[in-house]
Amino acid sequence: MSGELFITATPIGNLADISLRAIDVLKSVDYIACEDTRVTKKLLDKYSISAKVFDCHKFNEKEKSVKIISLINEGKSVALVSDAGTPCISDPGSILINELLKNNIKITSIPGACAVITFLTLLPRTNEEFAFIGFMPREKSRQNLIFNKYKYTNCVFYESPKRLIGTLENILHEFGEDKKVSVGRELTKIFEEVKTDKVSQLLNYYRNNPLKGEIVVMIWAQETVNIDDDNLTEKINALKEEGYSPKDISKIISKLYGINKNKIYKLALN
Ligand code: SAM
Repeated sequence: MSGELFITATPIGNLADISLRAIDVLKSVDYIACEDTRVTKKLLDKYSISAKVFDCHKFNEKEKSVKIISLINEGKSVALVSDAGTPCISDPGSILINELLKNNIKITSIPGACAVITFLTLLPRTNEEFAFIGFMPREKSRQNLIFNKYKYTNCVFYESPKRLIGTLENILHEFGEDKKVSVGRELTKIFEEVKTDKVSQLLNYYRNNPLKGEIVVMIWAQETVNIDDDNLTEKINALKEEGYSPKDISKIISKLYGINKNKIYKLALN
C-alpha cells in the first residue's frame, strides 16, 4: 500500500459497526487523519490499531491537506476518518478531496455507517426520492427557503437536540399544515428511537420529553395526486368561471393536488 488516501467510514454509535475492510485499512496505513484524536483513539484501541494519528478538522483542513499531499507524494498511505460515520458527509473531507483530485492522487472510499442512510432504512417510505440538506440552517428565513424548495420531496436533515423544537415549530408555522415528520435519535445506540407523527404531536412529545443525543429528521413530501392535463384544465376552467385569477387558481390547485404552481399558472393563462 503506498501513496494513497483512504476515505474510511467508522461507526455512528455502535463500535461494532465497522467493516472488516475498514479495520484492515486502518491497520495498514502509515497515518490516520481524524477530526478529534481522542474520539478516534477509542475506536483504534478497541481494534488494537496503532497507526500514527494526527488531526484534520474543519478549522485546519486546508493546511492539513498540504501535509497529507506531501505525505502521499513521499509514498505514504493515509486514512481519513471523522468522529462518526462517513467522512465528507456533513463532516470534513471535501476540501482535501478537491486538492487530491487536482494533484491526481488516488482516492479509495471504504464505505460504512452513515446516519442519514441508517435513518432512511427505518422509515416506511413508498418511494426512493429524498433530498439531504446536511445540517438544517438555524435562521428561519433560510429554513423556509429549504421547506419551499423541497415541498414535494422527502427532506432529510441533521439537527441539534437544542434546536429541534424551534425547527419543528417553524415547520408547523411555515407549511401552514400539520406535516408528517420523522425524528431518529441515537441510531445504533442503546437509546435508539424513531418517531413518525404529525409535527404538532411530535412537538407535544418533545416538549414533555426533552431531547438528548444525536438527531436526524425527515419532513415527508406533500403527496401529489396523479391528474391528467384534461382533468386539470377542467378544474382550472371551473375556478375561472367562479372568477378566480390565474394566480389564485395556481395556488389553490397546487395546494390541493401537489402539482407545480407554474404549470397550473401557465395553463390558467391560456
Ligand atoms: N458523517 C456523519 C454521517 O455519516 O452520518 C455525520 C456527521 S455530522 C457532524 C453529525 C450529525 O449526524 C449529528 O449531529 C446528528 O445530527 C447526525 N448523527 C450522527 N450520528 C447519529 C446517530 N447515531 N443517530 C442520529 N443522528 C446521528
